[in-house]
Amino acid sequence: MIAKRLIEWGSSGSTIREIAAYGEARAAQIGAENVFNFTIGSPSVDPPPCVYESVERLMRTLPPTQLHAYAPAPGYESVRQKMAEHLNRSFGAAYRSQDIYMTDGASSALAILTHALLGPGEEALTLTPYFTEYKLYVEAAGGTLREVPSDPETFQIDLGAVERALSPKTALMILNSPNNPSGVVLSRESLTALGRLLEERSRIYGHPIYVIADEPYRELVYGDVEVPFLPLIYRDTIYCYSFSKSLSIPGERVGFLALPPTLTDYENVHAAVYGAGRALGYICVSPLFQLVAAECLGKTADLSVYEKNRNLLYGALQGMGYQCVRPDGAFYLFIRAMEQDAKAFCRRAMEMDLLMVPGDDFGCPGYARIAYCVTTEQIQRSLPVFEKLARSYR
Ligand code: PLP
Repeated sequence: MIAKRLIEWGSSGSTIREIAAYGEARAAQIGAENVFNFTIGSPSVDPPPCVYESVERLMRTLPPTQLHAYAPAPGYESVRQKMAEHLNRSFGAAYRSQDIYMTDGASSALAILTHALLGPGEEALTLTPYFTEYKLYVEAAGGTLREVPSDPETFQIDLGAVERALSPKTALMILNSPNNPSGVVLSRESLTALGRLLEERSRIYGHPIYVIADEPYRELVYGDVEVPFLPLIYRDTIYCYSFSKSLSIPGERVGFLALPPTLTDYENVHAAVYGAGRALGYICVSPLFQLVAAECLGKTADLSVYEKNRNLLYGALQGMGYQCVRPDGAFYLFIRAMEQDAKAFCRRAMEMDLLMVPGDDFGCPGYARIAYCVTTEQIQRSLPVFEKLARSYR
């Protein structure tokens, strides 16, 4: 029998991709320059030179039997050693090569970890707004995703709301900072308070509450904002990283997860991660791109355009009367819809060929996400349309 739930997930698809596909079809009709597509969070800048140099050299020097062969299931030992050393150098952590598992971007790290850490009927908490796919990963693993509202003024953690959501069924919490879709970076102060609360509840419940720190946007921060390294604040944190955004290589599918050596029940979690990797088929990341990522550690694409876009768009939209929490990172703005129903708001924008994604998909109705990973020129040309949309509500 075909799995009913999977039919449902497969046929409903993602609203983001549906609106983006509409944008492409519309661009073919009226010209790409007349469609202001802010739907997809795909990097718009080129990968840095080190990516090309590394690809070219490895293609020339590696024997085809290695280049196109299976890598070890969790990744090459040498690559995992480099990832561990990089984390240790950057944050003063103490990872070893065996703590790192190379993954196909952050997506497969999340799928592996939710499968490894959630038992049937157990709950994973996440703060709203959140990356849409968390719900699928958690439910596919047999758990339930519990949405915890963040402080609506700041989108920082509302500790009282987390306290109310926690229960003996809580096995996991997924945190994402800088955040997709709000762009907010969680503060050290709020993460420290959260860490204390989770430690206390883990003691009371008699089992660990693991945290997944999903951080594909770590390097995309503007100004001197700190992105605290959560594993050093809360011991039971598993760090998930992706090179998709920092190196602008989302299509190459490379990232990793890192288990701290002091993790509660380390041996079993380690085994469950390997087991989930096998069961889900997330093994042997592309040899070429594991090696490229290891050679480019510490480097990024030129991310300055995102900050320029953030400043331009945030300033202009505020002047037009849009309400939005100032985003310190990632490449998203999450604006309040100008009517209660964000889907209707996005439909009205769509009639003006201005494409955004309703916040409903991120567990936060009443908002719309603008992905500003586009050219600055597109933003400049879109401003009169944003103004027209705001005017239509005055
Ligand atoms: N987590 C968040 C918050 C994201 O926004 C994304 C992608 O946009 C991912 C995870 C998955 O990214 P990837 O699998 O390309 O690393």
